[in-house]
Amino acid sequence: MLEVKQFPEMSWSLSRHKTLMNCQMQYFFTYYLSHNGWLQKASSVSKHAYRLKKMVSTEILLGNSVHKQIQQVIGHVQSEEKIQSESHLVESIRADLNTAYADSIHRRAQWFEKPSKYSMLQEIYYDGSLTKEKIHDIQERTRLSVNHFVSSRTFNVISHNQKVKIVDAERFRVMKVDGINIFAVLDLVYQEENGRYVIVDWKTGKERPDDFYQVVLYVWFLHEKLNIDLGEIEAKIEYLQIGKQKSIQVKQMDIDNMLNTFRMSMELMCGYIEDIEQNKPFGFEAFPKTQNPRTCSSCNYRELCSKS
Ligand code: SF4
Repeated sequence: MLEVKQFPEMSWSLSRHKTLMNCQMQYFFTYYLSHNGWLQKASSVSKHAYRLKKMVSTEILLGNSVHKQIQQVIGHVQSEEKIQSESHLVESIRADLNTAYADSIHRRAQWFEKPSKYSMLQEIYYDGSLTKEKIHDIQERTRLSVNHFVSSRTFNVISHNQKVKIVDAERFRVMKVDGINIFAVLDLVYQEENGRYVIVDWKTGKERPDDFYQVVLYVWFLHEKLNIDLGEIEAKIEYLQIGKQKSIQVKQMDIDNMLNTFRMSMELMCGYIEDIEQNKPFGFEAFPKTQNPRTCSSCNYRELCSKS
């Protein structure tokens, strides 16, 4: 039987750091209050936070579904099975989106009881429906993402170059630094014929300045885990909305900066903990709310936040 811990394990990820920087209250809801919210015996407020945490925006859902389909294609490339056609991929993503839409509209009660088994779209939860413009936008983005994936240089390399070796990216999910587990999810790692490693990150959203830091973290993982020179690792970001590939060569200075960010971030996070040993946080009053209305406008916890 799984041990039920009163408080979650302390760990670090770039998204955890970004949440803390965006809004400390959102950080409290995501990483503390929602803990154990999946248990029958959890408090109603923990269940509430967990339910809201599981909600997804259409953008996130699209990103998750595109990544899922790409993982399946990579699996088929590895096992030398027939690769799904472009139209099949589009249809599979549409099916995911339609299921989430139907869950949000018709299976709200089921989602309320089992938020990890059913989907709830944030827009429908808070606004009641999706606008025609939003539906059109998501359909168009689905089409573009798949089209740019199948025409990407990365897809071309892994599906046509027999000498390229796909590496199991699961090996790079967690790394311990200063006694803390750092988590990351690498989309694709492959090794070229000349021995160089290539890390690929698929992006379904717009190009952002912090994409670079994500890539630095991935390269750091590979550098540490495989004990290879940074010069032997190349990172590529595939922007699927616009069909652009960006190549990045990470330097030691970038890794050092990432290590500093991690340490500074951990120090900040520890400032919100009453008992370090147990990772027991201070009460919610210790977690200030952001003053940025734009952050709130897309926050899953609006409903809960207005009551606290
Ligand atoms: S609604 Fe705004 S203040 Fe409240 S948790 Fe979300 S981002 Fe923070």
